[in-house]
Amino acid sequence: MATCRTHIFTVPVLTRTTLVFMGASRKDRAIARRTFLGFAAVFTTAGVVGTITTDNAKARAAFDEALAEWVASGEAVDESASAFSAAQTDAIAAAAEASTVIEVTNAEMLQDSATLDALRASLDALVAAGLLTIAAPGEVTATTTAPDPRSTPDVPEGREAQLAQAQSLTEDTALLTETADTSEQSTSELEAATTAALADIDAVVASAAAHGAAVEVPSLASQETKDAYAAAVAALGDPAAGSASQRIGAYQQSWTAVQDSQAAAEAAQARGNSGGGDDGVQPTYINGILIVNKTYRLPSWYGNGLTGDTLAAFERMRAEAASVGHNLWIASGFRSYATQVKVYNSYASRDGSAAADRYSARPGHSEHQSGLAFDLNTITEAFGYTPEGQWVAANAHRFGFIVRYPQGKEGVTGYIWEPWHLRYLGVDTATAVYNSGLSLEEYLGITSVYD
Ligand SMILES: [Zn+2]
Repeated sequence: MATCRTHIFTVPVLTRTTLVFMGASRKDRAIARRTFLGFAAVFTTAGVVGTITTDNAKARAAFDEALAEWVASGEAVDESASAFSAAQTDAIAAAAEASTVIEVTNAEMLQDSATLDALRASLDALVAAGLLTIAAPGEVTATTTAPDPRSTPDVPEGREAQLAQAQSLTEDTALLTETADTSEQSTSELEAATTAALADIDAVVASAAAHGAAVEVPSLASQETKDAYAAAVAALGDPAAGSASQRIGAYQQSWTAVQDSQAAAEAAQARGNSGGGDDGVQPTYINGILIVNKTYRLPSWYGNGLTGDTLAAFERMRAEAASVGHNLWIASGFRSYATQVKVYNSYASRDGSAAADRYSARPGHSEHQSGLAFDLNTITEAFGYTPEGQWVAANAHRFGFIVRYPQGKEGVTGYIWEPWHLRYLGVDTATAVYNSGLSLEEYLGITSVYD
């Protein structure tokens, strides 16, 4: 039975490898395990190396019986190992998520530090379960046992050596049985640790959402960053918006952007105050709406282009308008303070300042400097009578815009009817203003007059 001997002495290597290396395919593991169990059983049953031959009926019967028995028990071992492997995968995923959640979260952002402590406790439980190693805070690596590096042993020569080999196989069999038991125990430990980690991740997400909803957003931060922050807070509670770590990461990033925007505004303001001639002028927010008109002006440092939300909302509006045959484009978007100086001065020198004041803003008083306003298509009253202009008047609010200077409101807004000039307010506010039939000044109860 040269074939048998070949199997006998190569199997231990396979077995030691598959015992400790869970990464092999399940099929490979099962085959290797059964092969080993079958032959190991013969040794433990028959107890003598060399009796396994087709000529020895007694040994052959023992072999067959033991093989059937151990293959059956091998199935059980295999199921256990499979459950263990699945639990291990889940646990590693949960731990990786938990670790990332910790990484992207900081106690400052969370009112409930207890959830973070609980999360860390869960990681400790996973470490205690023996599969995870926390190398450094926020850094988790899965623990895998390296395959046995031993090379295939030669077939021992002589009866003593063969008996020693048989003894070794018997020990391996005991080890395998023990491993199966340990595997079942570890599975339940891992499942418990995984459940705990997932529950604590939920707690961290909820805590971040609660903190995000309660926090006061700095007033000088750009509307774009504030809108992104609000969206990130809303997404925290929506599992469809990504993994917990992704949602918390987006939340943290948006909050950092708000703070950066605030800091930049304050720094620019400080520069303006130290020689910019702004006399401490600050942007004015009423009910959270940035107000720019003849009464309220922006400091010269304010603004750096149309905001992302304004552009995105315009793109949505442009696409829908195109789908019904209307062609919309931005004829004039952001205008800096310096640009407005040139624009206003040229109009004033051409038509006189009184006439220019009816359709052009003085520097600092132009909504174009806010990054939230733009002019569409042709900047003439005729635009209001085109199909495009009429579609815009009836639909812009659905995308977050209002026609800022409506017909017949010059006495309130300070400007003639400008059917081409849109202001971004967000869908809710724009719809409310649209439904009220009022100008923004009337809606907020404010004036628009130069000093
Ligand atoms: Zn305009």
